[in-house]
Amino acid sequence: MTEKIYGNSFALQTFSSMFRSGRIPHSFLIYGEKGLGKKTLAKYLAMSLLCENRNDGTPCGECHSCRIAQKNVHPDIIFPEQSGKLNTYTVETCRHVCTDAFVVPNNSDIKIYIFADADNIQLPAQNALLKIIEEPPAHVRFIFTAKSKDAFLPTIISRVTSVGASACTEKECITALSEKNYSDTDIKNAVNSFGSNIGMCIEYMENPQLQSVSALTKRAVNSIINKDEYSLLTVFSDPEFKDRSITAEFLKMLDNAIRDCVAIRYNPNISCSSCCKPEVSVLSEKLSVKSAMKIHTYLDKAASEIRANVSSALVMSALCGEIIDS
Ligand SMILES: [Zn+2]
Repeated sequence: MTEKIYGNSFALQTFSSMFRSGRIPHSFLIYGEKGLGKKTLAKYLAMSLLCENRNDGTPCGECHSCRIAQKNVHPDIIFPEQSGKLNTYTVETCRHVCTDAFVVPNNSDIKIYIFADADNIQLPAQNALLKIIEEPPAHVRFIFTAKSKDAFLPTIISRVTSVGASACTEKECITALSEKNYSDTDIKNAVNSFGSNIGMCIEYMENPQLQSVSALTKRAVNSIINKDEYSLLTVFSDPEFKDRSITAEFLKMLDNAIRDCVAIRYNPNISCSSCCKPEVSVLSEKLSVKSAMKIHTYLDKAASEIRANVSSALVMSALCGEIIDS
């Protein structure tokens, strides 16, 4: 059976209307925040494109092509390799794809390159792909996934069909997680932190570090809500911050919360990427956009100091004062 897709009804409808009209673009970008199932959608789209039984945008899940695609061994679904310092698609990899694209597919009429998590793809690599995306061989399709369209050159964006991934409802999220056999208590905690973002809920349940960081972020947001410098200092001097990777992760998560605060003011129904939507809603009523921007700048500065190996204790105590003053 094909992997079930929760949420993303907009993307699925877009695919199915493309297939029904018979006008299927050769390149796609599936974009949206982490955890919304972009890679699952990319795989689903690739299966639909290759399915031997249907051409309505839903893979049958039973033909030879669907079955090998589900086992991730379809020779015509190609995942170019990510490498280098940024762990991304290098110019060399992209040039190789340009050459390889002219080789006819193995099993099917078409071959599909999936550039998953292409957020860090650098300009030279994008330039290398430009021509092939503009005029690909008839048997080639490209699917990119990224958190944001901003990762790409406008010339790439104008040549791909962009489809936004979207969150499912909380009920759909709980059903999806129950089907993956997580316990009710774990699911409840995860949904309390990450709402209906299935990918982040799974990461939360699987990753103890994310659980600590989320708990610290919630405490920090509550301290900022109450303008309580002492409690914020207590959070910021937590022994967990001896681990620099935890400090870095925390600064990113708190920054997401602050960003969500601003976003929620403009659209209360927006799906949050931070771990504490209820707290963020309260904070958004108390924090002006100007203060939020200031805090964002301080968090950004603190994150780059942590990357530059400045002591966590120093960075965190300076940051505490800056946040309370803003
Ligand atoms: Zn099929």
